[in-house]
Amino acid sequence: MCYAIPAKLVAIEGDKGIVDYFGEQRKVLLDLDDVKIGDYIFAQGGVMVRKIPEDEAQEILKTWKDIFFELKKTDEVMSKINTENMPENALAILQKINLRQMIKKDEMHTLLELTDPNELKVLYEIANHVRQREHGNASCVHGIIEFSNYCAGNCHYCGIRHDKNIPRYRMSIDEIIAAAKDAVDTHGFKALVLQSGEDYWYDDEKLITIVKAVRKLGTLVFVSCGSRSKETYKKLYEAGARAALMRFETSNPDVFATLRPGTTLADRIQLIKYLKEIGYVIATGFIIGLPGTTTDDLVNDILLTKVLSPDMYSFGPLIPTEDTPLASTSMVTKDLVLKTIAVSRFVDSNSNILVTTALETLDVEGRKEGLLAGANSLMLNITPMQYRKLYAIYDGKVTDNQEVTQSIQDTVDLLYSLGRAPTDIGFSCNTNTEGETNE
Ligand code: SAM
Ligand code: SF4
Repeated sequence: MCYAIPAKLVAIEGDKGIVDYFGEQRKVLLDLDDVKIGDYIFAQGGVMVRKIPEDEAQEILKTWKDIFFELKKTDEVMSKINTENMPENALAILQKINLRQMIKKDEMHTLLELTDPNELKVLYEIANHVRQREHGNASCVHGIIEFSNYCAGNCHYCGIRHDKNIPRYRMSIDEIIAAAKDAVDTHGFKALVLQSGEDYWYDDEKLITIVKAVRKLGTLVFVSCGSRSKETYKKLYEAGARAALMRFETSNPDVFATLRPGTTLADRIQLIKYLKEIGYVIATGFIIGLPGTTTDDLVNDILLTKVLSPDMYSFGPLIPTEDTPLASTSMVTKDLVLKTIAVSRFVDSNSNILVTTALETLDVEGRKEGLLAGANSLMLNITPMQYRKLYAIYDGKVTDNQEVTQSIQDTVDLLYSLGRAPTDIGFSCNTNTEGETNE
Protein backbone atom coordinates (compact mmCIF):
# COMPACT_ATOMS: atom_id res chain seq x y z
CA MET A 1 0.00 0.00 0.00
CA CYS A 2 1.42 3.31 -1.01
CA TYR A 3 -0.54 5.02 1.68
CA ALA A 4 1.97 7.63 2.83
CA ILE A 5 3.65 10.55 1.20
CA PRO A 6 7.36 11.07 1.70
CA ALA A 7 8.47 14.53 2.80
CA LYS A 8 11.73 16.46 2.58
CA LEU A 9 13.41 17.77 5.72
CA VAL A 10 13.84 21.51 5.17
CA ALA A 11 14.76 22.83 8.65
CA ILE A 12 15.80 21.54 12.06
CA GLU A 13 14.73 23.22 15.32
CA GLY A 14 16.13 21.29 18.31
CA ASP A 15 14.59 17.81 18.28
CA LYS A 16 11.92 18.88 15.75
CA GLY A 17 12.14 19.12 11.99
CA ILE A 18 10.10 21.01 9.41
CA VAL A 19 9.23 18.80 6.47
CA ASP A 20 7.75 19.74 3.13
CA TYR A 21 5.68 17.85 0.55
CA PHE A 22 4.20 19.58 -2.48
CA GLY A 23 4.68 22.98 -0.82
CA GLU A 24 2.88 22.06 2.44
CA GLN A 25 4.89 22.09 5.63
CA ARG A 26 4.56 20.07 8.85
CA LYS A 27 6.48 19.81 12.11
CA VAL A 28 7.73 16.36 13.20
CA LEU A 29 9.79 14.86 16.01
CA LEU A 30 13.20 13.86 14.64
CA ASP A 31 13.20 10.38 16.08
CA LEU A 32 16.22 9.05 14.21
CA ASP A 33 19.94 9.59 14.46
CA ASP A 34 21.86 10.96 11.53
CA VAL A 35 19.17 12.93 9.71
CA LYS A 36 20.13 16.10 7.92
CA ILE A 37 18.45 18.85 5.95
CA GLY A 38 17.64 17.60 2.46
CA ASP A 39 16.87 14.02 3.57
CA TYR A 40 13.57 12.41 2.54
CA ILE A 41 11.58 10.75 5.29
CA PHE A 42 8.32 9.06 6.18
CA ALA A 43 6.55 10.44 9.25
CA GLN A 44 3.32 9.54 11.00
CA GLY A 45 1.39 11.34 13.70
CA GLY A 46 4.18 13.88 14.13
CA VAL A 47 6.97 11.34 14.48
CA MET A 48 9.64 10.62 11.88
CA VAL A 49 9.63 6.87 11.34
CA ARG A 50 12.07 6.21 8.53
CA LYS A 51 14.55 7.78 6.14
CA ILE A 52 14.22 6.86 2.48
CA PRO A 53 16.64 7.21 -0.39
CA GLU A 54 16.06 10.31 -2.54
CA ASP A 55 15.46 8.40 -5.80
CA GLU A 56 12.83 6.20 -4.11
CA ALA A 57 11.15 9.29 -2.60
CA GLN A 58 11.14 11.11 -5.95
CA GLU A 59 9.60 8.09 -7.62
CA ILE A 60 6.77 7.93 -5.04
CA LEU A 61 6.24 11.71 -5.19
CA LYS A 62 6.03 11.52 -8.98
CA THR A 63 3.19 9.00 -8.80
CA TRP A 64 1.48 11.11 -6.15
CA LYS A 65 1.82 14.48 -7.81
CA ASP A 66 -1.23 14.51 -10.08
CA ILE A 67 -3.54 12.55 -7.85
CA PHE A 68 -2.60 14.67 -4.82
CA PHE A 69 -3.88 17.90 -6.36
CA GLU A 70 -6.93 16.10 -7.79
CA LEU A 71 -7.80 14.74 -4.36
CA LYS A 72 -7.42 18.18 -2.80
CA LYS A 73 -9.84 19.60 -5.32
CA THR A 74 -12.39 16.84 -4.66
CA ASP A 75 -12.15 17.42 -0.91
CA GLU A 76 -12.53 21.18 -1.30
CA VAL A 77 -15.68 20.71 -3.35
CA MET A 78 -17.14 18.10 -0.98
CA SER A 79 -16.52 20.20 2.13
CA LYS A 80 -18.05 23.44 0.81
CA ILE A 81 -21.15 24.51 2.68
CA ASN A 82 -24.16 26.27 1.40
CA THR A 83 -25.29 28.89 3.90
CA GLU A 84 -28.27 30.06 1.86
CA ASN A 85 -31.04 28.13 3.59
CA MET A 86 -29.14 27.40 6.75
CA PRO A 87 -31.17 27.62 9.97
CA GLU A 88 -30.35 30.64 12.19
CA ASN A 89 -28.91 28.54 15.01
CA ALA A 90 -26.57 26.69 12.65
CA LEU A 91 -25.42 29.96 11.08
CA ALA A 92 -24.60 31.30 14.54
CA ILE A 93 -22.43 28.25 15.29
CA LEU A 94 -20.71 28.49 11.96
CA GLN A 95 -19.94 32.14 12.56
CA LYS A 96 -18.46 31.36 15.99
CA ILE A 97 -16.32 28.61 14.57
CA ASN A 98 -15.17 30.77 11.69
CA LEU A 99 -14.15 33.41 14.23
CA ARG A 100 -12.34 30.64 16.12
CA GLN A 101 -14.45 31.22 19.22
CA MET A 102 -15.08 28.39 21.67
CA ILE A 103 -18.47 26.79 21.72
CA LYS A 104 -19.79 26.61 25.26
CA LYS A 105 -20.97 23.64 27.28
CA ASP A 106 -24.66 24.48 26.91
CA GLU A 107 -24.23 24.81 23.14
CA MET A 108 -22.50 21.44 23.00
CA HIS A 109 -25.40 19.98 24.93
CA THR A 110 -27.92 21.47 22.49
CA LEU A 111 -26.05 20.13 19.46
CA LEU A 112 -25.77 16.64 20.96
CA GLU A 113 -29.54 16.57 21.44
CA LEU A 114 -30.49 17.65 17.89
CA THR A 115 -32.78 15.18 16.15
CA ASP A 116 -34.13 17.00 13.11
CA PRO A 117 -32.58 15.32 10.02
CA ASN A 118 -32.10 18.66 8.23
CA GLU A 119 -30.35 20.19 11.24
CA LEU A 120 -28.17 17.11 11.60
CA LYS A 121 -27.21 17.29 7.93
CA VAL A 122 -26.09 20.90 8.38
CA LEU A 123 -24.23 20.04 11.60
CA TYR A 124 -22.20 17.33 9.85
CA GLU A 125 -21.51 19.58 6.86
CA ILE A 126 -20.15 22.34 9.08
CA ALA A 127 -17.96 19.84 10.95
CA ASN A 128 -16.62 18.49 7.66
CA HIS A 129 -15.93 22.04 6.54
CA VAL A 130 -13.97 22.75 9.75
CA ARG A 131 -12.01 19.51 9.31
CA GLN A 132 -11.04 20.61 5.81
CA ARG A 133 -10.12 24.11 6.97
CA GLU A 134 -7.80 22.76 9.69
CA HIS A 135 -6.30 19.67 8.06
CA GLY A 136 -6.79 20.15 4.36
CA ASN A 137 -7.40 16.69 2.95
CA ALA A 138 -4.91 14.97 5.29
CA SER A 139 -5.97 11.65 6.72
CA CYS A 140 -4.21 8.79 8.43
CA VAL A 141 -4.62 5.04 8.33
CA HIS A 142 -3.10 2.94 11.08
CA GLY A 143 -2.97 -0.83 11.35
CA ILE A 144 -3.91 -2.66 14.55
CA ILE A 145 -2.57 -6.05 15.65
CA GLU A 146 -4.54 -7.58 18.52
CA PHE A 147 -1.92 -9.85 19.99
CA SER A 148 -3.62 -11.40 23.05
CA ASN A 149 -7.16 -11.74 24.37
CA TYR A 150 -6.11 -12.76 27.87
CA CYS A 151 -7.08 -10.07 30.34
CA ALA A 152 -6.74 -9.58 34.07
CA GLY A 153 -9.39 -6.85 33.87
CA ASN A 154 -13.09 -7.40 34.24
CA CYS A 155 -14.67 -4.38 32.57
CA HIS A 156 -18.43 -4.85 32.47
CA TYR A 157 -18.74 -3.90 28.79
CA CYS A 158 -15.94 -6.00 27.35
CA GLY A 159 -16.25 -9.35 25.60
CA ILE A 160 -12.73 -10.47 26.57
CA ARG A 161 -13.12 -9.61 30.28
CA HIS A 162 -11.46 -12.02 32.65
CA ASP A 163 -14.65 -13.71 33.82
CA LYS A 164 -16.05 -14.44 30.37
CA ASN A 165 -15.58 -18.01 29.31
CA ILE A 166 -14.07 -17.74 25.82
CA PRO A 167 -11.25 -19.47 23.97
CA ARG A 168 -8.08 -17.50 24.73
CA TYR A 169 -5.01 -16.92 22.54
CA ARG A 170 -1.66 -15.26 22.88
CA MET A 171 0.60 -14.57 19.89
CA SER A 172 4.24 -15.51 20.40
CA ILE A 173 6.87 -12.78 20.15
CA ASP A 174 7.93 -14.15 16.76
CA GLU A 175 4.34 -14.21 15.50
CA ILE A 176 3.80 -10.58 16.51
CA ILE A 177 6.99 -9.44 14.82
CA ALA A 178 6.16 -11.46 11.68
CA ALA A 179 2.66 -9.93 11.52
CA ALA A 180 4.16 -6.44 11.90
CA LYS A 181 6.77 -7.15 9.22
CA ASP A 182 4.08 -8.29 6.83
CA ALA A 183 2.05 -5.14 7.58
CA VAL A 184 5.03 -2.90 6.88
CA ASP A 185 6.78 -4.73 4.03
CA THR A 186 3.80 -6.18 2.17
CA HIS A 187 1.05 -3.70 2.93
CA GLY A 188 3.00 -0.47 3.45
CA PHE A 189 1.75 0.52 6.93
CA LYS A 190 3.75 3.27 8.65
CA ALA A 191 1.94 3.17 12.00
CA LEU A 192 1.00 0.05 13.96
CA VAL A 193 -1.06 -0.28 17.12
CA LEU A 194 -0.12 -3.29 19.26
CA GLN A 195 -3.18 -4.03 21.38
CA SER A 196 -4.10 -6.66 23.97
CA GLY A 197 -5.99 -7.30 27.16
CA GLU A 198 -4.07 -6.71 30.36
CA ASP A 199 -1.95 -9.80 29.88
CA TYR A 200 0.99 -10.00 32.28
CA TRP A 201 2.40 -13.06 30.52
CA TYR A 202 4.07 -10.35 28.42
CA ASP A 203 6.49 -9.04 31.03
CA ASP A 204 8.61 -5.93 30.45
CA GLU A 205 11.35 -7.93 28.80
CA LYS A 206 9.00 -9.52 26.24
CA LEU A 207 7.25 -6.22 25.49
CA ILE A 208 10.58 -4.44 25.04
CA THR A 209 11.76 -7.13 22.61
CA ILE A 210 8.56 -6.73 20.58
CA VAL A 211 8.63 -2.92 20.55
CA LYS A 212 12.31 -2.76 19.56
CA ALA A 213 11.82 -5.20 16.70
CA VAL A 214 8.68 -3.48 15.38
CA ARG A 215 10.25 0.00 15.63
CA LYS A 216 13.21 -1.30 13.64
CA LEU A 217 10.86 -2.07 10.74
CA GLY A 218 10.54 1.70 10.26
CA THR A 219 7.09 2.27 11.68
CA LEU A 220 5.44 4.29 14.43
CA VAL A 221 4.75 1.93 17.34
CA PHE A 222 1.53 2.55 19.27
CA VAL A 223 1.11 0.51 22.44
CA SER A 224 -2.34 -0.30 23.81
CA CYS A 225 -2.00 -2.91 26.50
CA GLY A 226 -3.99 -1.32 29.30
CA SER A 227 -3.15 0.03 32.71
CA ARG A 228 0.38 -1.33 33.04
CA SER A 229 2.79 0.45 35.41
CA LYS A 230 4.41 3.80 34.67
CA GLU A 231 7.78 2.02 34.77
CA THR A 232 6.67 -0.40 32.04
CA TYR A 233 5.46 2.44 29.81
CA LYS A 234 8.71 4.35 30.42
CA LYS A 235 10.75 1.32 29.39
CA LEU A 236 8.60 0.86 26.28
CA TYR A 237 9.15 4.49 25.34
CA GLU A 238 12.89 3.98 25.72
CA ALA A 239 12.58 0.86 23.52
CA GLY A 240 11.06 2.93 20.72
CA ALA A 241 7.28 3.07 21.32
CA ARG A 242 6.23 6.65 20.62
CA ALA A 243 2.45 6.49 20.82
CA ALA A 244 -0.11 5.05 23.23
CA LEU A 245 -3.80 4.33 22.77
CA MET A 246 -5.55 4.43 26.11
CA ARG A 247 -9.13 5.54 26.59
CA PHE A 248 -10.36 6.91 29.91
CA GLU A 249 -13.72 5.31 28.93
CA THR A 250 -15.96 7.80 30.81
CA SER A 251 -15.45 11.11 32.58
CA ASN A 252 -17.99 10.05 35.21
CA PRO A 253 -15.93 8.67 38.13
CA ASP A 254 -18.83 6.69 39.63
CA VAL A 255 -19.71 5.00 36.35
CA PHE A 256 -16.01 4.27 35.81
CA ALA A 257 -15.64 2.66 39.24
CA THR A 258 -18.74 0.51 38.68
CA LEU A 259 -17.81 -0.63 35.18
CA ARG A 260 -14.07 -1.15 35.73
CA PRO A 261 -14.11 -2.90 39.11
CA GLY A 262 -11.08 -2.32 41.31
CA THR A 263 -9.80 0.66 39.31
CA THR A 264 -10.41 4.41 39.43
CA LEU A 265 -10.83 7.13 36.85
CA ALA A 266 -8.25 9.25 38.71
CA ASP A 267 -5.57 6.55 38.29
CA ARG A 268 -6.39 6.07 34.60
CA ILE A 269 -6.19 9.83 33.95
CA GLN A 270 -2.97 10.10 35.90
CA LEU A 271 -1.44 7.36 33.75
CA ILE A 272 -2.58 9.01 30.51
CA LYS A 273 -1.11 12.33 31.67
CA TYR A 274 2.14 10.60 32.60
CA LEU A 275 2.37 9.02 29.14
CA LYS A 276 1.92 12.43 27.57
CA GLU A 277 4.50 13.93 29.92
CA ILE A 278 7.21 11.46 28.95
CA GLY A 279 6.66 12.11 25.26
CA TYR A 280 4.11 9.62 23.98
CA VAL A 281 1.75 10.72 21.22
CA ILE A 282 -1.62 10.02 22.81
CA ALA A 283 -4.87 8.63 21.43
CA THR A 284 -7.64 8.71 23.99
CA GLY A 285 -11.37 9.02 24.42
CA PHE A 286 -14.45 7.28 25.74
CA ILE A 287 -17.35 4.92 25.12
CA ILE A 288 -20.66 6.51 24.12
CA GLY A 289 -23.79 5.08 25.73
CA LEU A 290 -22.52 3.48 28.92
CA PRO A 291 -25.43 2.90 31.31
CA GLY A 292 -25.76 5.64 33.91
CA THR A 293 -24.36 8.34 31.62
CA THR A 294 -26.25 11.39 30.33
CA THR A 295 -25.76 14.07 27.67
CA ASP A 296 -23.93 16.12 30.33
CA ASP A 297 -21.51 13.24 30.78
CA LEU A 298 -20.97 13.13 27.02
CA VAL A 299 -20.19 16.85 27.02
CA ASN A 300 -17.70 16.21 29.85
CA ASP A 301 -16.22 13.24 27.95
CA ILE A 302 -15.43 15.48 24.98
CA LEU A 303 -14.02 18.21 27.21
CA LEU A 304 -11.88 15.78 29.22
CA THR A 305 -10.46 14.40 25.97
CA LYS A 306 -9.56 17.94 24.99
CA VAL A 307 -7.90 18.65 28.35
CA LEU A 308 -5.66 15.62 27.83
CA SER A 309 -4.57 17.22 24.53
CA PRO A 310 -4.28 14.02 22.57
CA ASP A 311 -2.98 13.70 19.05
CA MET A 312 -6.05 11.62 18.29
CA TYR A 313 -9.61 11.37 19.64
CA SER A 314 -10.70 7.72 19.88
CA PHE A 315 -14.30 7.16 20.91
CA GLY A 316 -17.07 4.89 19.81
CA PRO A 317 -20.45 3.49 20.77
CA LEU A 318 -20.93 0.77 23.35
CA ILE A 319 -21.73 -2.45 21.53
CA PRO A 320 -23.63 -4.53 24.11
CA THR A 321 -22.08 -7.97 24.21
CA GLU A 322 -23.40 -11.39 25.18
CA ASP A 323 -22.44 -12.82 28.55
CA THR A 324 -21.27 -9.48 29.88
CA PRO A 325 -23.03 -7.46 32.57
CA LEU A 326 -24.03 -4.89 29.91
CA ALA A 327 -25.50 -7.44 27.47
CA SER A 328 -29.00 -5.97 27.67
CA THR A 329 -28.03 -2.27 27.49
CA SER A 330 -29.67 -0.42 24.61
CA MET A 331 -27.57 0.39 21.58
CA VAL A 332 -26.96 4.10 20.87
CA THR A 333 -27.91 5.55 17.51
CA LYS A 334 -25.45 6.16 14.71
CA ASP A 335 -26.45 9.81 14.80
CA LEU A 336 -25.35 10.17 18.41
CA VAL A 337 -21.88 8.98 17.38
CA LEU A 338 -21.81 11.29 14.35
CA LYS A 339 -22.95 14.23 16.51
CA THR A 340 -20.14 13.43 18.96
CA ILE A 341 -17.65 13.49 16.09
CA ALA A 342 -19.01 16.84 14.87
CA VAL A 343 -19.05 18.46 18.31
CA SER A 344 -15.53 17.20 19.07
CA ARG A 345 -14.40 18.78 15.80
CA PHE A 346 -15.91 22.13 16.90
CA VAL A 347 -14.41 21.93 20.37
CA ASP A 348 -10.92 20.94 19.23
CA SER A 349 -10.82 21.91 15.58
CA ASN A 350 -7.21 20.91 14.98
CA SER A 351 -7.50 17.38 16.41
CA ASN A 352 -7.34 14.07 14.60
CA ILE A 353 -10.57 12.18 15.07
CA LEU A 354 -10.74 8.45 14.49
CA VAL A 355 -13.67 6.59 13.00
CA THR A 356 -13.65 3.49 15.18
CA THR A 357 -14.56 -0.07 14.25
CA ALA A 358 -17.45 0.10 16.74
CA LEU A 359 -19.13 2.79 14.61
CA GLU A 360 -18.62 0.67 11.50
CA THR A 361 -20.08 -2.28 13.40
CA LEU A 362 -23.13 -0.19 14.30
CA ASP A 363 -23.73 0.73 10.65
CA VAL A 364 -21.96 -0.24 7.42
CA GLU A 365 -22.07 3.35 6.22
CA GLY A 366 -20.61 4.56 9.53
CA ARG A 367 -17.08 4.90 8.23
CA LYS A 368 -17.96 7.12 5.30
CA GLU A 369 -20.46 9.14 7.31
CA GLY A 370 -17.97 9.61 10.15
CA LEU A 371 -15.38 10.94 7.69
CA LEU A 372 -18.03 13.35 6.39
CA ALA A 373 -19.00 14.51 9.89
CA GLY A 374 -15.57 15.77 10.93
CA ALA A 375 -13.39 12.66 11.34
CA ASN A 376 -10.10 12.18 9.49
CA SER A 377 -8.51 8.94 10.70
CA LEU A 378 -9.08 5.23 10.27
CA MET A 379 -7.68 2.06 11.73
CA LEU A 380 -7.50 -1.22 9.83
CA ASN A 381 -7.47 -4.59 11.52
CA ILE A 382 -4.42 -6.57 10.47
CA THR A 383 -4.53 -9.20 13.20
CA PRO A 384 -3.75 -12.60 11.62
CA MET A 385 -7.01 -14.22 10.46
CA GLN A 386 -6.78 -17.23 12.81
CA TYR A 387 -7.00 -14.88 15.85
CA ARG A 388 -9.35 -12.22 14.50
CA LYS A 389 -12.65 -13.70 15.77
CA LEU A 390 -11.14 -14.55 19.14
CA TYR A 391 -10.46 -10.90 19.94
CA ALA A 392 -14.18 -10.55 20.49
CA ILE A 393 -14.35 -7.39 22.58
CA TYR A 394 -17.88 -7.01 21.26
CA ASP A 395 -20.30 -9.05 19.17
CA GLY A 396 -20.36 -8.88 15.38
CA LYS A 397 -17.11 -6.90 14.97
CA VAL A 398 -17.22 -5.81 11.36
CA THR A 399 -13.54 -6.61 10.77
CA ASP A 400 -13.83 -10.30 11.73
CA ASN A 401 -13.81 -11.53 8.14
CA GLN A 402 -12.09 -8.65 6.34
CA GLU A 403 -9.04 -9.86 4.50
CA VAL A 404 -6.19 -7.29 4.73
CA THR A 405 -5.58 -6.68 1.03
CA GLN A 406 -9.28 -6.21 0.39
CA SER A 407 -9.82 -3.90 3.35
CA ILE A 408 -6.86 -1.75 2.25
CA GLN A 409 -8.31 -1.52 -1.25
CA ASP A 410 -11.76 -0.63 0.09
CA THR A 411 -10.24 2.00 2.38
CA VAL A 412 -8.14 3.59 -0.33
CA ASP A 413 -11.16 3.63 -2.66
CA LEU A 414 -13.29 5.26 0.03
CA LEU A 415 -10.68 7.87 0.92
CA TYR A 416 -10.04 8.74 -2.71
CA SER A 417 -13.77 9.03 -3.38
CA LEU A 418 -13.84 11.64 -0.61
CA GLY A 419 -10.69 13.39 -1.82
CA ARG A 420 -8.54 12.47 1.18
CA ALA A 421 -4.78 11.95 1.04
CA PRO A 422 -2.40 10.18 3.43
CA THR A 423 -0.65 13.26 4.71
CA ASP A 424 -1.13 13.10 8.45
CA ILE A 425 2.58 13.24 8.91
CA GLY A 426 3.00 16.01 11.41
CA PHE A 427 1.58 19.03 13.16
CA SER A 428 0.30 21.93 11.13
CA CYS A 429 1.08 25.51 12.03
CA ASN A 430 -2.61 26.46 12.14
CA THR A 431 -3.62 28.49 15.17
CA ASN A 432 -6.34 27.22 17.44
CA THR A 433 -8.76 29.06 19.70
CA GLU A 434 -6.77 30.31 22.64
CA GLY A 435 -7.44 31.95 25.97
CA GLU A 436 -11.10 30.92 26.06
CA THR A 437 -12.78 28.03 27.79
CA ASN A 438 -15.88 26.00 27.00
CA GLU A 439 -17.47 26.80 30.39
N1 SAM B 1 -6.99 -3.60 27.57
C1 SAM B 1 -6.67 -2.33 27.03
C2 SAM B 1 -7.49 -1.24 27.66
O1 SAM B 1 -8.51 -1.53 28.28
O2 SAM B 1 -7.08 -0.08 27.52
C3 SAM B 1 -6.78 -2.26 25.52
C4 SAM B 1 -7.77 -3.17 24.87
S1 SAM B 1 -9.45 -2.73 25.12
C5 SAM B 1 -10.28 -4.05 24.35
C6 SAM B 1 -9.67 -1.39 23.96
C7 SAM B 1 -10.96 -0.64 24.08
O3 SAM B 1 -12.05 -1.43 23.66
C8 SAM B 1 -11.35 -0.18 25.46
O4 SAM B 1 -10.66 0.97 25.84
C9 SAM B 1 -12.87 0.04 25.30
O5 SAM B 1 -13.15 1.42 25.10
C10 SAM B 1 -13.21 -0.72 24.02
N2 SAM B 1 -14.31 -1.69 24.26
C11 SAM B 1 -14.29 -2.81 25.00
N3 SAM B 1 -15.50 -3.40 24.99
C12 SAM B 1 -16.31 -2.64 24.21
C13 SAM B 1 -17.69 -2.73 23.81
N4 SAM B 1 -18.46 -3.73 24.20
N5 SAM B 1 -18.18 -1.75 23.02
C14 SAM B 1 -17.39 -0.74 22.60
N6 SAM B 1 -16.09 -0.61 22.93
C15 SAM B 1 -15.56 -1.54 23.74
FE1 SF4 C 1 -9.49 -6.01 29.60
FE2 SF4 C 1 -9.28 -3.71 28.23
FE3 SF4 C 1 -11.42 -5.34 27.96
FE4 SF4 C 1 -11.09 -3.98 30.22
S1 SF4 C 1 -11.44 -3.11 28.15
S2 SF4 C 1 -11.62 -6.14 30.06
S3 SF4 C 1 -8.86 -4.01 30.44
S4 SF4 C 1 -9.34 -5.78 27.37
